[in-house]
Amino acid sequence: MESMKAEIQKIFKERFGEGGTLYASAGRINLIGEHTDYNGGFVFPGAIDKVIMAEIKPNGMEKVRVFSIDIDEYAEFGLKEEDAPKQSWARYIFGICREIQKRGGEVKGFDAVFAGNVPLGAGLSSSAALESCFAFALNDLFNSNKIDKFELAKIGQSTEHNYCGVNCGIMDQFASVFGRKGNLMRLDCRSMEYEYFPFNPQDYKLVLVDSRVKHELKDSPYNRRRESCERVAKRLGVDTLRDATMEMLDAVKSDITAEDYFRAKFVIEEKQRVLDVCDALNAGDYETVGKKMYETHHGLSKDYEVSCEELDFLNDVAKTLGVTGSRIMGGGFGGCTINLVKNDLHDDFIKVVVDKFNEKYGHEPKIYDVVISDGARKIEE
Ligand code: ADP
Ligand code: MG
Repeated sequence: MESMKAEIQKIFKERFGEGGTLYASAGRINLIGEHTDYNGGFVFPGAIDKVIMAEIKPNGMEKVRVFSIDIDEYAEFGLKEEDAPKQSWARYIFGICREIQKRGGEVKGFDAVFAGNVPLGAGLSSSAALESCFAFALNDLFNSNKIDKFELAKIGQSTEHNYCGVNCGIMDQFASVFGRKGNLMRLDCRSMEYEYFPFNPQDYKLVLVDSRVKHELKDSPYNRRRESCERVAKRLGVDTLRDATMEMLDAVKSDITAEDYFRAKFVIEEKQRVLDVCDALNAGDYETVGKKMYETHHGLSKDYEVSCEELDFLNDVAKTLGVTGSRIMGGGFGGCTINLVKNDLHDDFIKVVVDKFNEKYGHEPKIYDVVISDGARKIEE
């Protein structure tokens, strides 16, 4: 972090001179609560100790000048809709400016240099970190922080929708903006209410194992999952499966397809698992947290059917080694597992899981240790 900061400051000084302000925002994990957002349920994310950091200074011009250290590219653009830059990384920043303006906020020209250590495309939401960093910064620099934090998250989400072609939910930006060291956040995707829960495991680490596979699937599996959920909700006479119980589902079991039944079963059980994990965290009971993570994996694999061979393999290896909790993180069909690992098992787990996976699939998974940390912020000198 210190070396990232020093490098940003050095390059900012060379390109734009002295006196910018430093901001950062974080990537995120989701401990539990998968495929629940579009069913009006709960998600349970937290910000991590991997960030995008930017030094920014108003330049008195009508344009933005920005340099990406990691991509080693410079972009320059105006602040009107027709000024959209071509580089995809710059479109995130342009989108943030535009979405603030569309909401009546102020954005003036500025210079910026930024870098990060959130792995790209690994499921840790580097894009939300980038959006939140600039949204937070421009709120501070040009709007006296009067745009509320939830709106900052929505500005990031709208940026993905309108400028980056990604039709995402609100969780990633929410987590990046609201993240707080030592806390996870339960976000109610129906009411948008949220609550912080302590996550400070002294005896455990969170480890992500990135399979580096992404199965391309035909016939839109995600849409089909959604349709199943909507069909069952309709049959039960509720808005979303948030309002359904297993008793209600079992009562219509003979009227719906087996596939729809198991999809809905997963969603209903997953809602309860998030609540159970919250209780467990309040009691400092990380063994129960881990147990719930395995149950989620099982449900995602067998009932919701969004796992794949590689992810089930990673889960099996974790279980065999006695890892406390392990599950798919994210939509499925590839990407990461998130693992809750006892400190004294940590090094062995990494060694064994890397070796075994490599032996079986011919490439090593990537390992990321993560610590639950602060989200969007100004970095005081
Ligand atoms: P993720 O799952 O990590 O959010 P995305 O594809 O949504 O993956 O976002 C990745 C994109 O965000 C990159 O292609 C790039 O445009 C931008 N980005 C993320 N991190 C950086 C960075 N450190 N420097 C420049 N651009 C970045
Ligand atoms: Mg993203």
